[in-house]
Amino acid sequence: MKLQTRYTDISELLAIKDMPSTAAKPQLLLFNDKLADNFSIKHDSEFLAKLLSGSTIDNAVAPVALGYSGHQFGHFSPRLGDGRAHLLGAITDKDGTLWDLQLKGAGATVFSRGGDGRCAIGPAVREYIMSEALHALGIATTRCLAVVTTGETVYRNPPRPGAVVTRLAKSHIRVGSFQYLATQGDIEGLEKLVDYAICCHFPEINSTDEKRYIDFLTAVQDKQIELIVSWMRVGFIHGVMNTDNTLISGETIDYGPCAMMNNFDFDTVFSSIDHQGRYAFGNQPTIANWNCARLAESLLLLFKDEKQALTDLSAVINSFSTRFNDAFNFMWQKKLGLESLEEDDHILVSELLTLMKQHKLDYTNTFNLLTESLQSPVTIPANIKEWYKKWFLRTSTQSYKTMRAVNPAVIPRNHNIEMIIGEYENSGKSASLEAFLKVISNPYIYKAENTHWYEPPKEGDANYQTFCGT
Ligand code: AMP
Ligand code: MG
Repeated sequence: MKLQTRYTDISELLAIKDMPSTAAKPQLLLFNDKLADNFSIKHDSEFLAKLLSGSTIDNAVAPVALGYSGHQFGHFSPRLGDGRAHLLGAITDKDGTLWDLQLKGAGATVFSRGGDGRCAIGPAVREYIMSEALHALGIATTRCLAVVTTGETVYRNPPRPGAVVTRLAKSHIRVGSFQYLATQGDIEGLEKLVDYAICCHFPEINSTDEKRYIDFLTAVQDKQIELIVSWMRVGFIHGVMNTDNTLISGETIDYGPCAMMNNFDFDTVFSSIDHQGRYAFGNQPTIANWNCARLAESLLLLFKDEKQALTDLSAVINSFSTRFNDAFNFMWQKKLGLESLEEDDHILVSELLTLMKQHKLDYTNTFNLLTESLQSPVTIPANIKEWYKKWFLRTSTQSYKTMRAVNPAVIPRNHNIEMIIGEYENSGKSASLEAFLKVISNPYIYKAENTHWYEPPKEGDANYQTFCGT
């Protein structure tokens, strides 16, 4: 595996050399063979366990911890950084795309701020499953190459086996990375970081044009809009959309407190620390807009004419809601299989959402039922029967195909994820993971024999809570 150094040329503040700790007894627990194949990485358990726990570091490799700031729940922390992650370097896939290879949970770094830099088995398994599930749902995400257990105990409440996650991402440049260089007054580094991010993620932007910072903000914002719409299409609640968890590439990152919505309700929140519902399901667009505004503030430092820059950057930020609504309306159009969006269709959408909320209908299963109803006889719930008649008149021969492509039959339900995590925590292995991964790898295919995985939790989810994955 050939690892290249990355980010060190941009600013000495951005990537700090830092060695992972050695694990007592590293063992490969999960390995993503299909993903590994893209990088021609062989399934050599002993070698990979040592490498991907951070226990064996080749002399040619220089691991770093990345520096970044972050607005966490709206409050600014000027110096966060990778407190439990080591970037070993970047690897190239078969298409020539560069990916960061990062170990999460391989010990404390210069940014740990008193934390242990460790990761417990539960959050590691959650990240593996959820990132695979989102990828299969067609949502941009960081990927998980492996989970290695360390043979050590991580002191949480209760103590748990330790694990290291190997995360692959097209880059780890976050909104918080720009905030960090801006806060540190490293304007040269900030300029270089924008140019590098443009080069990696938005090569269509003319990098010599004066307008490039405005174009960059527009492109980042558009990626965020695309991401949030795709989350909302499947009922994903990220749960911790801080600026340090917002990647410029538009990939989903940080699966700590994430969850899937069962019954439809824009106010759904599962994170135990999100008391105000800042990161509620329906608040995700507002927060993405807010995070883009924080990026704009950092970029402001790069302009000579501050007044003009403020006007131009604000125009981009102010365009968020129109651009988002266009994409969001298009999403509903597809979810309902409508060929075009007519004048009254927004009423059709809002009536359905109101009924779903009122009657506590499952988001995924309702859209799946509408989809399948165009193909085979199904029972439509009594409380949406009248609405169904109106909607049915708006469907066409193309509707089934359109709807099947955007409405998943299966999502990674919270209670199933918890059940699998519990198996790993209790016995270090799972009897269910393989079958579950197989089903969620093909989420847009409805199969009667898989209905066991389609069901929402019998007891409901009023008491379900997620926690930041420390
Ligand atoms: P997160 O909630 O994962 O986005 O983390 C927020 C910040 O806390 C980041 O700077 C992390 O590196 C840091 N952090 C989280 N968990 C730990 C840990 N166990 N040890 C050290 N730093 C941590
Ligand atoms: Mg994070």
